[in-house]
Amino acid sequence: MKDIKSLLPEELEALVRAMGESAFRSRQIFSWLSKGVQDFSEMSNLPKTLRERLAAEAYINRLVCLKKQVSQLDGTVKYLWELRDGSAVETVVMRYAHGATVCISSQVGCRMGCAFCASTIGGLVRNLTASEMLDEVIYSQQDFGEPVSNIVIMGIGEPLDNYDNVMRFLRLVNHPAGMNIGMRHITLSTCGLTERIPELIHENLQLTLAISLHAPDDKTRSLLMPVNRDRGVEALVRCCEDYFAATGRRITLEYAMIDGVNDTPEQARQLAGLARRAKAHINLIPLNHVEERAFSPSGPERIRTFCGVLERSGANYTIRRSLGGDVDASCGQLRRKREREQAGFRRENTSPQDP
Ligand code: SAH
Repeated sequence: MKDIKSLLPEELEALVRAMGESAFRSRQIFSWLSKGVQDFSEMSNLPKTLRERLAAEAYINRLVCLKKQVSQLDGTVKYLWELRDGSAVETVVMRYAHGATVCISSQVGCRMGCAFCASTIGGLVRNLTASEMLDEVIYSQQDFGEPVSNIVIMGIGEPLDNYDNVMRFLRLVNHPAGMNIGMRHITLSTCGLTERIPELIHENLQLTLAISLHAPDDKTRSLLMPVNRDRGVEALVRCCEDYFAATGRRITLEYAMIDGVNDTPEQARQLAGLARRAKAHINLIPLNHVEERAFSPSGPERIRTFCGVLERSGANYTIRRSLGGDVDASCGQLRRKREREQAGFRRENTSPQDP
């Protein structure tokens, strides 16, 4: 069966033409899919024969909401969706002055192994398809009840480790006949798969690139992020310089402040130096405590000192406002909780004789 919602308009047109229908029909179908219909029978302006033919050859992806949590603090909504194979991923919708921002997952799990992150604990299960990522946006928007103006690919998974599907998703969500979300309103966050960045530059998208830097020196960064071990900070910063030179789009360096690990004044100086070279903006993030992880967030005093150094170095930085603190709204925490619950459930159901 074909995953019809992952097809680009030109591919959909080829499919419809092969069924002896005109391109016009494919545009109708694309529009229905972007509206989130769940069944071909709902495509009321298509001939019945075509609807039946489509249903025989293709399926329409859908998500089932397993859990929805609404923050009492700021209205942030977090969804846990079940996918067709029973896997689950998270999507978060945040309300900002400029509209709703959806934070989507790009993989089920993650294989990058960052030492402070909840998403990677169970490893990678599989890549998300383009239709699954698109549905994270469509279904969240429908439930949230407000148009989505921005997308950040900052949920579970490493988007550049699922490169082709993520590029396909971007083209679908950006399409004028679909959700029509401008590339400049989309941010892709990566842990720094440097080998993929030249390819991304070549796509010539007006996307905002965010780099999860988290440490300015190789020793600390390799400790926190295994992806750094055979790439290194220098190679990453060069990629940032190239990205800015080619696209004119300012990169964001994400930096989660971890007590006693990456929050010394010397590291602030190094960070400011790297940001200057890459002409990047620094986004300081208060570390979210993850149950299975030993790291703690930097205290206010250390953050103040760190920011003082950044300021004196002329660095351009902001401290990320933390939203949804009461709904497990950071990466992978809700999915982890479900996995723990399921593991507990399995244990409870295992009789003592079982191996
Ligand atoms: N794999 C991509 C996308 C994930 S984005 C990436 O690494 O960029 C999620 C962001 O949250 C990343 O910057 C990630 O490093 C950060 N993050 C993960 N765990 C965190 C935690 N416990 N506290 C704060 N930030 C965290």
